[in-house]
Amino acid sequence: MATHFSSSAPPALLGRDSLQTLIVALRDEGYTVIGPRLEDAAIVYAPLESADALPIGWDDQQDGGTYRLVRSDRDALFDYVVGPHSWKRYLYPPRQRLWQSQRHGKGWRIKESQETSSPYAFIGVRSCEIHALQIQDRVFDNGAFADPGYVARRQQAFIVAVNCARPAGTCFCTSMNTGPRTTQGFDLCLTELIDEQRHDFLVEAGSAKGAALLSKLPHRPAPADDLTQAETITTAASKAMQRAMVPEVSALLKRNPEHPRWQEVAQRCLSCANCTQVCPTCFCSTVEDVTELGGQTAERWRQWDSCFTIDFSYIHGGSIRRETRSRYRQWLTHKLSSWHDQFDTSGCVGCGRCITWCPVGIDLTEEARAIQDGEGGT
Ligand code: SF4
Ligand code: SF4
Repeated sequence: MATHFSSSAPPALLGRDSLQTLIVALRDEGYTVIGPRLEDAAIVYAPLESADALPIGWDDQQDGGTYRLVRSDRDALFDYVVGPHSWKRYLYPPRQRLWQSQRHGKGWRIKESQETSSPYAFIGVRSCEIHALQIQDRVFDNGAFADPGYVARRQQAFIVAVNCARPAGTCFCTSMNTGPRTTQGFDLCLTELIDEQRHDFLVEAGSAKGAALLSKLPHRPAPADDLTQAETITTAASKAMQRAMVPEVSALLKRNPEHPRWQEVAQRCLSCANCTQVCPTCFCSTVEDVTELGGQTAERWRQWDSCFTIDFSYIHGGSIRRETRSRYRQWLTHKLSSWHDQFDTSGCVGCGRCITWCPVGIDLTEEARAIQDGEGGT
């Protein structure tokens, strides 16, 4: 988790073939390696046995309500940007048993669920996603209310970051100060250097365990030109970004709770909750108690929920947010404004997933801009 590490080791170079060595080294250290895989016409995060299973030569084209994989003109391993999955599904699983109980005489014996999986190593974590992990740390590990399962999984996780070589059409991390260059929060960080003559990775160690693992991989010193090339790659990705969040959005939304734009967006929004399910920071959940018909055992499960469901705000005989207008406003103002009051950070990292996976292409940067443009208007 957030440990400070000051490495005197200069960035190194790994050959393309060393990616497989990295995966094997992580497995040898007891990690379950999770990485990008092509499944069901999308790039998802799934167990990764081999570097050959990475989405070699695939790009993703993204826009509001649109996601399409296309073959690229080179065999890069990490040319795609981000897909519908985020790492939260491993640290904060979509469905999780919290406890089981067994009838015992006239009472019940409660057994808390124990962690069963080995620690995770995540390969291909983007800068915005590292920021998203750190935002979820404030939710699940904030001292007063810590989730022990999340904390254990997060503390043990090994993060292999990858710098973005291009933005997706829906990214706006530059305007959120969350990317595209990865600067902290990783154990190892890779920048893919690929052209007709070469295919290497510039690798930086960001923690003691990252440096220890790097020492086991075949690597060589990186020449100064490669450092410049890596810098150029992320600078170009930043310049190519097509979307941006308006400045001072938190105060803007606080000033405009009754802006007519909330009603306009509600006429398009389907209240489907897709945006909250793909968002790497959303954390709403519900609990479900399950009893076995014989009455001998009972279980409590936690599963992801969404502020877009009408039941989510059901309190004492009624839902507080009955209209789509109030549910969309709740989501956007929480993400971009009241999250600051609650967790001292934005709840958005500019990954663009909610724009891509919204079936009607609602774009939060556009909504914020419309409120800014029409501020005080009717
Ligand atoms: S609100 Fe949208 S852009 Fe922001 S972090 Fe969530 S999914 Fe990404
Ligand atoms: S904004 Fe889009 S993704 Fe989110 S609930 Fe509305 S229609 Fe669904």
